[in-house]
Amino acid sequence: MSKTSVGYGKSPGAYKDKEKPFQIRESNISAAKAVADAVRTSLGPRGMDKMIQSANGDVTITNDGATILKQIQVLHPSAKMLVELSKAQDIEAGDGTTSVVVIAGSLLTAASKLLSKGIHPTTISESFQRASGKAVEILTDMATPVDLNDRESLVKIASTSLNSKVVSQYSGMLAPLAVDAVLRIVDPKKPDNVDLRDVKIIKKLGGTIEDTELIDGLVFSQRTAGSGGPTKMEKARIGLIQFCLSPPKTDMDNQVVVSDYAQMDRVLREERAYILNLVKQIKKAGCNVLLIQKSILRDALNDLALHFLTKMKIMVVKDIERSDIEFICKTINCKPIASIDHFQPEMLANAELVEEVTTGTSKVVKITGIANPGRTVTVLIRGSNKLVLEEADRSIHDALCVIRCLVKEKALIAGGGAPEIEVGQRMSEYAQGLTGMEGYCFSAFAEALEVIPSTLAENAGLNPISVVTELRNRHAHGEKTAGINVRKGAITNILEENVVQPLLVSTSAIRLAAECVTSIMKIDDIVMTM
Ligand code: ADP
Ligand code: MG
Repeated sequence: MSKTSVGYGKSPGAYKDKEKPFQIRESNISAAKAVADAVRTSLGPRGMDKMIQSANGDVTITNDGATILKQIQVLHPSAKMLVELSKAQDIEAGDGTTSVVVIAGSLLTAASKLLSKGIHPTTISESFQRASGKAVEILTDMATPVDLNDRESLVKIASTSLNSKVVSQYSGMLAPLAVDAVLRIVDPKKPDNVDLRDVKIIKKLGGTIEDTELIDGLVFSQRTAGSGGPTKMEKARIGLIQFCLSPPKTDMDNQVVVSDYAQMDRVLREERAYILNLVKQIKKAGCNVLLIQKSILRDALNDLALHFLTKMKIMVVKDIERSDIEFICKTINCKPIASIDHFQPEMLANAELVEEVTTGTSKVVKITGIANPGRTVTVLIRGSNKLVLEEADRSIHDALCVIRCLVKEKALIAGGGAPEIEVGQRMSEYAQGLTGMEGYCFSAFAEALEVIPSTLAENAGLNPISVVTELRNRHAHGEKTAGINVRKGAITNILEENVVQPLLVSTSAIRLAAECVTSIMKIDDIVMTM
């Protein structure tokens, strides 16, 4: 009715500017590709490391895709999707965080070519989704089963993952360590998964990475409290307390005015009596090693209490974090004690030995020979400087994750670009049987996977084109495990080089990358709400 109604007759939501969705998509693709290019050079055993300096001056040296991307500040929303993609792979598989981003970058390049040929984005994203399903199917078909009792194979797989790290020269000792750690926490009742929170990582500066050890027991990164107390206790009876050994505070903000010396003496006497009573009860229960949780309300342990404990020859480890309590209880098989009334002999744990040992320049407390140990282990990582120590931690995490992948899905495939070429070829064959746009998109997807071998070759200083061509040729002649032998700079049977990786790492990388690309393709506008 009103003559001023705006846009009447045209559909209000449709774009007047037909170019806009196209431009938005292009901008999304190029932003995401820029992120992928940033990590490309880190792929593989000859990949380069990155040095990242954060705004507050902290420096990180790493080769791990997830870590690099976590630290990079990206502004573009679709670039952020790639950062998230790498994080998702880190959670799902733990390794392959660089590969997943490189694959996504390559799929985006392929998609952008298909777009410019006039194929509709929905067709592309649907085909890619189906193609990733097919790729996973082919990979699963290629995989060889692995037995968790076959320690040798597991060590090979962990070494492959460690080979591409900054600490690769130590893979010979870190790989068996990671395998043993995971195998020790596998619960026979739940053989299909492990919780890596049961592997506690403690980092201590000093020594070299070669001094890293797996400890069957518990380690505290702090030394025993006070001085003069026992530092070694055989036949330990361990109590873990969550209450404080210090004078109680009033509930409200009261003030007590002490006006003469007699009153002051009384206050001190009462305090002394109160604390002595607590310590005597602890002694009476038979405890000789006391673990004390940190308190934020008041001193968990005051000087007087420490003095009494020292006199009674009770070893004390204080400042235990709240978050570590669960792990400690599980390991030494005890219950945390929340009040002195519950400090009974049956709440204590037994161990052969609790000892303060010197590692490098500092001291740690070790509990060994635990009577009823839980399924946990502790890894004590040593390193000569902070940067190496941090990177060793991340690398061991990757190796642990790789073994966890094998626990989840007990199958392995060759590495070194062999699976990608094989999948690419079988998919191209499959695509010839498809009709319409879909076949075209499948071929593009298959070709995009070749980015992994070509990047591996490039980073190893080989000619990517001739390497990929030769790989294609060999695979076409049935050499399913022909891959890039980085050490020799040639193409050989990669299984002989012992380069193997878990199936789950590759399948999850392809699935997640395709999913990310699919969602980027479906975006046709960016709306700011600020
Ligand atoms: P990601 O963060 O994705 O795990 P990496 O830098 O660990 O990246 O590189 C993994 C890739 O390197 C995999 O494709 C793997 O097959 C390959 N690779 C690892 N070790 C070797 C090796 N010794 N020879 C050839 N390729 C290898
Ligand atoms: Mg890796």
